[in-house]
Amino acid sequence: MKFTILTLFPDIVRAYFEASIMKRAVAGGLIDYSLVNIRDYATDKHRKCDDEVFGGGAGMLMKPEPLDRALEAAGSPSVRTIFVTPSGRLFNQAMAQELSQEENLVILCGRYEGVDQRIIDTRVTDEVSIGDYVLSSGEIAAMVLVDAIYRLRPGVISGESLEEESFSKGLLEYPQYTRPALYDTIKVPDVVLSGNHAQIARWRLKASIAKTLAYRPELLTLDNLPVEASGLLREVIDGGGWNEPGTVHRGRTDQE
Ligand code: SAM
Repeated sequence: MKFTILTLFPDIVRAYFEASIMKRAVAGGLIDYSLVNIRDYATDKHRKCDDEVFGGGAGMLMKPEPLDRALEAAGSPSVRTIFVTPSGRLFNQAMAQELSQEENLVILCGRYEGVDQRIIDTRVTDEVSIGDYVLSSGEIAAMVLVDAIYRLRPGVISGESLEEESFSKGLLEYPQYTRPALYDTIKVPDVVLSGNHAQIARWRLKASIAKTLAYRPELLTLDNLPVEASGLLREVIDGGGWNEPGTVHRGRTDQE
């Protein structure tokens, strides 16, 4: 899969592609990328990429000409082309899953007040927001998309890790523990040390339901829950729900 990122600040994005799991995925030929400096497509003496907004208002807008040339060279709109913008559709795991099926993705990073609408109308296929807040530019949003998408590609990380993650079954992930089993005065729940896989699976599902109900109740729809979950949902509701962080009393060991 190839990501083509159009930006005025390629250095912000470069470091991301040159580190850790992404670096290995690139070296292993699983992922390819190209960083396009939009300024390289400006033809005037000052390589100007922004201008005032017609009709007035604060701030500048990215000019159409350099963007149009850069996007033309990237193959847009024949190639799936995402403009990251707070006014786009809200990004989520299902969207990451869907976009991970593409072989080529172009991502346009905005700056200033955004980009001239004619570029969105003619070159962009999707407008995507990473959340209900405004960042100063699109590079971090582009990296959020790339990161959520590329790890779903075959061979990047193990399928088993992906299966148990938050959102994979419409639930948030259950709490996890590592050694030591007793830290300070806090012991991990007995069930996770029991070696009884059926009991562990049941405990994890119940904890996932409790956490989802507390933090993201809108995710809990009956059609995406595993069949065994409806009884557990009743147990969670009757049993007092989820321990908020900071409210677990020292010495208390279990969600049960
Ligand atoms: N005037 C724009 C608005 O009100 O919708 C905000 C422009 S913002 C200062 C500059 C750029 O940052 C945007 O063009 C976009 O590329 C990026 N950006 C900011 N917030 C974002 C978000 N929540 N999701 C995706 N991109 C975002």
